[in-house]
Amino acid sequence: RAPAEIEPFTMRVHSKKTASTADLAALLKRPIIKTDEIMARVKPIVESVRARGNAALVEFTSKFDGVTIDAESIVERAPFDPRKMELDPNVKAAIDLAYDNVFKFHDAQLDREPLVVETMPGVVCSRVVRPIERVGLYIPGGTAVLPSSTLMLGVPAKVAGCTEIVLATPPRKDGTIAPEIMYVAAKIGATAVLKAGGAQAVAAMAYGTETVPKVDKICGPGNQYVTAAKMICQSDSSALLSIDMPAGPSELLVVADAAADIRYAVSDLLSQAEHGVDSQVVLVAVGFAQSDLDALQAELKRQASVLPRADIVKVSLSKSYVLVVDSMDEAIAFSNEYAPEHLILNVDNARSYVPRIVSAGSVFLGPFSPESCGDYASGTNHTLPTYGYARMYSGVNTHTFLKHITTQELTKEGLDRIGDCVTTLAEVEALEAHRNAVAIRLADIRRR
Ligand code: NAD
Repeated sequence: RAPAEIEPFTMRVHSKKTASTADLAALLKRPIIKTDEIMARVKPIVESVRARGNAALVEFTSKFDGVTIDAESIVERAPFDPRKMELDPNVKAAIDLAYDNVFKFHDAQLDREPLVVETMPGVVCSRVVRPIERVGLYIPGGTAVLPSSTLMLGVPAKVAGCTEIVLATPPRKDGTIAPEIMYVAAKIGATAVLKAGGAQAVAAMAYGTETVPKVDKICGPGNQYVTAAKMICQSDSSALLSIDMPAGPSELLVVADAAADIRYAVSDLLSQAEHGVDSQVVLVAVGFAQSDLDALQAELKRQASVLPRADIVKVSLSKSYVLVVDSMDEAIAFSNEYAPEHLILNVDNARSYVPRIVSAGSVFLGPFSPESCGDYASGTNHTLPTYGYARMYSGVNTHTFLKHITTQELTKEGLDRIGDCVTTLAEVEALEAHRNAVAIRLADIRRR
């Protein structure tokens, strides 16, 4: 059933009180992504790059980005030419401040000391952390220049201590990369920049080419071609690759009570709605009366119609909605079910609700914490799980670029203590060689 038309720059309103269970279930769903169709289009691109390397990269960059670039210059290796990163001093200062905050928060996530536990006398287990050595960071570039995404991926990779950091992003029409991105690339210690985007860039990093280093993990957002390529390469065991998470269109859920400043709530909704026509924004309005809803729609029209990206906002708002609920209990329950990428709690005493949030990518508390601050500079990461994946995925963080190795060391006494347990379990599983590896030692220990 096609939804009824609504006035431009307004949002559909539903009420928890009158909505049926089926209506509420439909509100929790995201727009369906046609995965099969995209996969079928992306597979041959991945296959070409795997088989033909740089020649295929050059062809696809010409076809999809309209940029002619030669194979020799498609990868730039560090140290990068400072002339390629010349910036307006204000922009540079803003990037520097954002970098410092993101660095501080991600550096604090590093567990520097090994975890050591004596599980029983003479049996010592430990866990040490190691960086994933070679990582690929995809920075979207089809419609916008995104130094912020470069920071959000690059800083945790640097903090983790990754030794090879390859950054891939579509080139500009003249074949170059924006100086803002090159500046951040140098700051985060990128070792190479691949001037290509889309599925072809992902495949190049997954398999390696004549000049693109092969990486072990690819992280970063991107359009549906990028996401499909990440999934295809991850499932090919010959690529031996992992990825950060599946990604869908960006989304925001705002919980506002009737006391919230409606101008703030609307500005937050629009900041997300301008991302793309597939963005979804939801307002859970706690105790809103009809007059509050009228004020909301009027404010939406006022702020949205003058935005430079009003055309995009018009479409994304038409797919978004308001849900009126009676209480914070209902609001939190709905948000937890929806599992939003971004959650703003523009309500009285916002922090007190954090213990009850079960699923969300990142939460913004109170009237003075707009999502934009987390998108750029507060310190948290903006690469977050979308599409309901916040139920089981975390956003990108320092641990995205780390792995753990465990060790165990048993003394003779320790083996004596634990030995019968192990031989018994090995017998239960009928693994005689396992049992014997312990028994052969126990015999020596107990003979003496
Ligand atoms: P992109 O870099 O992801 O994709 C551009 C590439 O897509 C091009 O280089 C081209 O090679 C390829 N492409 C374009 N048309 C194609 C076709 N028909 N067939 C095959 N390949 C094709 O940039 P984008 O398109 O602007 O998408 C960016 C996405 O990233 C958006 O969905 C945006 O919401 C998302 N994003 C998310 C975050 C986040 O943190 N969650 C941040 C920034 C951007």
